[in-house]
Amino acid sequence: MSDQTRDARHIALAEIGGDGQARIAAGKVFIVGLGGLGCPAAEYLAASGVGTLVVNDFDHVDTTNLSRQILYGPGDVGRLKTEAAAERLTTLNPDVSIRRLSERLDADRLEAEFRDVTLVLDGTDNFASRLAVNRAAVRAKVPLVFGAAIRLEGQLGVFENSGGGPCYRCLYDDEDEWLGNCQGNGVLAPVPGVIGTLMAVEALKLLAGVASGLTHRMLLWDAKSGDWQVIGLAARADCPDCQSGAH
Ligand SMILES: [Zn+2]
Repeated sequence: MSDQTRDARHIALAEIGGDGQARIAAGKVFIVGLGGLGCPAAEYLAASGVGTLVVNDFDHVDTTNLSRQILYGPGDVGRLKTEAAAERLTTLNPDVSIRRLSERLDADRLEAEFRDVTLVLDGTDNFASRLAVNRAAVRAKVPLVFGAAIRLEGQLGVFENSGGGPCYRCLYDDEDEWLGNCQGNGVLAPVPGVIGTLMAVEALKLLAGVASGLTHRMLLWDAKSGDWQVIGLAARADCPDCQSGAH
C-alpha cells in the first residue's frame, strides 16, 4: 500500500527520502521578517513539516500588505504579524512548533538566537536589517538563505557561513543601499512570492542535506524581461564581517 501521509511525496523523492524528511522534521528555521518573502517561505516550510519555525517581526498587518503577504486577510489588519502568521501556519500544519518573537532584536540577541537554530531565512525589506542579519549569521556560523524583491526584480542567495566567506556583506564596497524597500518603490505582488518560495526550496535542501548550486552564488531575476541570471560570489578580503577575525 502506498504511503498516504503528509510527507509521502517528499519521501518518494530520491533526493529527500525518509532520512531527508526526518532531518526536515528535526530542523529549526529562524525566519526574519514576515512580509512578502517571509509569508510564502513560512507557509511552505510549515506545510512541508519543518519541526520548528521561529518567526520574528515587530510589525502589525497593514492593508497595503495584503496583496502579497498571503498569510493575512482583511480581518488581520492591525494584528501583530507574528500572531496572525502563527495562527495560519498552525492551521496548515498543527505538528509544526511555532515560536513567536514580536520585537526588533539587537545584534547580540540575534546572534544568540541564531546559535540555537539550523538555518536562517532573511526576509527583511531594508539594507540595514540585511546587514545585521548577515553579521549575526556569520558570527553564529549558521547558514543563511537570503532573498530580496523590489519592483519587478528578485534576488536569491545561499551563504554557508562555515568560515572564510563569502557572506552577504562581501557584495558591497560601501554602505550604499543596493535595493530599496517596497514602501517607496512598489513591488509586483507575486515577485516576492516567487523569491520567498525559492527561499523555502533552498531551506528544505539545506535541511535535507541536498547540495545547492546556489551556494555562494546569487540568482538575479528580472520579472519584466523574464531573464534569470546566476552570478558567482567571492569573499572580499576587506569584508568587515566574514574576514574581520573579530569573532
Ligand atoms: Zn563577507
